[in-house]
Amino acid sequence: PVVTRFAPSPTGYLHIGGARTALFNWLYARGRGGKFLLRIEDTDRARSTPEATQAIFRGLTWLGLDWDGDAVSQAERHGRHAEVARELLARGQAYKCFSTQDEITAAREQAKAEGRSTQFRSPWRDADPADHPDAPYVIRIRAPLEGTTVVADRVQGDVSVRNDQLDDMILLRSDGTPTYMLAVVVDDHDMGVTHVIRGDDHLNNAARQMLVYEAMGWDVPVWAHIPLIHGPDGKKLSKRHGALGVDEYQAMGFPAAAVRNYLARLGWSHGDDEFFTDAQAKAWFDLDGIGKAAARFDMKKLEHLSGQHIAVADDAALIAEIESYLAASGQPALSEDQIDGLQRAMFCLKDRAKTFGQILEKAHFVLAERPLRPDEKAAKALDDVSRGILAELTPQLQNASWNRHTLEEVVTQVAEANDTKLGKVAQPLRAALAGRTVSPSVFDMMLVIGRDETLARLGDVTA
Ligand code: GLU
Repeated sequence: PVVTRFAPSPTGYLHIGGARTALFNWLYARGRGGKFLLRIEDTDRARSTPEATQAIFRGLTWLGLDWDGDAVSQAERHGRHAEVARELLARGQAYKCFSTQDEITAAREQAKAEGRSTQFRSPWRDADPADHPDAPYVIRIRAPLEGTTVVADRVQGDVSVRNDQLDDMILLRSDGTPTYMLAVVVDDHDMGVTHVIRGDDHLNNAARQMLVYEAMGWDVPVWAHIPLIHGPDGKKLSKRHGALGVDEYQAMGFPAAAVRNYLARLGWSHGDDEFFTDAQAKAWFDLDGIGKAAARFDMKKLEHLSGQHIAVADDAALIAEIESYLAASGQPALSEDQIDGLQRAMFCLKDRAKTFGQILEKAHFVLAERPLRPDEKAAKALDDVSRGILAELTPQLQNASWNRHTLEEVVTQVAEANDTKLGKVAQPLRAALAGRTVSPSVFDMMLVIGRDETLARLGDVTA
């Protein structure tokens, strides 16, 4: 059975690149009846606050990336990591090194002066334990000096590293704490991880981590190192390209389904498919579809997909998402009446809206209360001539039967009677009904708010 994992270091927020890594692992496991695990790499105690961990939980939860079982804290497993270091020591696959930092620096400088490799070779590698001093030591792996280590990567292909290029890395520090390199391997092994899908900034680590797997006689997982995300300019995604935290995308009003869809396409492809559902993504996702080149973040594409997801979303689900969007972006919550209005209007709010913010903007005509305070542009559309036309329209609407066809007829007739275009009537009508110049069509609005409210709003501006 497939077991994948997401292993973020808590830094205060869930990075959009991390979210993509999590999504790939989630899709791979969920599409194969496997497990998706979460491990918080909180080894750096100073940076790893409970708040930072909560931010990762929040981001993943918003994105709908559910993990199996409880999240594992790496820091809580330090005892187990130390145990494995001692086991490697007992097996002769690791050794105690008593070199001090000063000695290591001096050795490096001398090697440099002599034009030799500055890779540190510990004099303790082959020392007789009988000669060991009673002093602090680190535990280093006994890396093979000959041969090569091949990382058979599903994305990058075979990546070979000569073993003499791999140093005897530290597994356990002199204070008894494990290094990151040891902790990752022990955790992945103990958690039964079969596939490691992560950023290719970890590709070099994979060769060194393989030494630990081999020294312990453990199965090496399938590696898939995915290219990092770049900005539109082709440089590694960074703050100056825009939002990096998943929470910022939530606050921008994108549906989680759209962000999932977009992130899935960021570095992975399935033919020409751009828009897809979660079910399709789970069925289609595979390692072969991951590209070797860095994907570029494209806000326009995200917005486009977002519009498509909003258009097909279920109304009730959309409203629930809008409510959490308002909370997440620090805006006031909706009242019962406003939710009711949104429900009735949703059919005409959904199309062409790319974000929840745009839906709410168009929804002003059901969210605001009479008398509407027209914004500047709407006020301009309500000049004397226009209000005269609306005054003419009012009695016609009093008697019209309230359906789209008749309403269109009435508005058209008033335009003809005034020898003007439909827009000359629709524009002030929109301003009167919405208090805005951006809204659904005037006919949609009239149908949603009904005759009485329509006449009342006309009365407000023509009186
Ligand atoms: N904690 C590492 C990071 O956040 C990931 C380690 C891994 O996936 O093996 O970059």
